[in-house]
Amino acid sequence: MRSVRVDRPAPYPPRISAATRPFWDALGDERLTTTRCLDCGDTTFPPKPICPNCFSTQLSWQSLSGRGTLYSYSRVWAGPEVFGEELPYTVCVVDLDDGLRLGSRLLDGVEPEMGKRVTLVFVHYTDATLFFFESEAAMKNES
Ligand SMILES: [Zn+2]
Repeated sequence: MRSVRVDRPAPYPPRISAATRPFWDALGDERLTTTRCLDCGDTTFPPKPICPNCFSTQLSWQSLSGRGTLYSYSRVWAGPEVFGEELPYTVCVVDLDDGLRLGSRLLDGVEPEMGKRVTLVFVHYTDATLFFFESEAAMKNES
């Protein structure tokens, strides 16, 4: 998976808690992770301290593939002021190969197409690492 360095702080950095610190630390090491319930086996995203299916607190961390298909997207032309420098940008919903659906940002490159393959990109700001997705078609155009 690709990573990108951005020479400024994230416009809206994550608010890290004790419960989410393992997720952000792993993301900084370029691994997308979430929690899996040791009692019922349910895996959810974002990671949680309590299983939303059976309310167990016995959870473990597991790595996710970071690959999937684009379920939906929307181009944002007028966004919150903190994202002003990044306008316009694209938000997306991705169905991961791991069976989870999550929201993220889609990097520009090619015109998004629902149902097409996307791969995670680690975006390292000076103060935090975030994850976006990009079309696998866009990655092929780069080489
Ligand atoms: Zn559970």
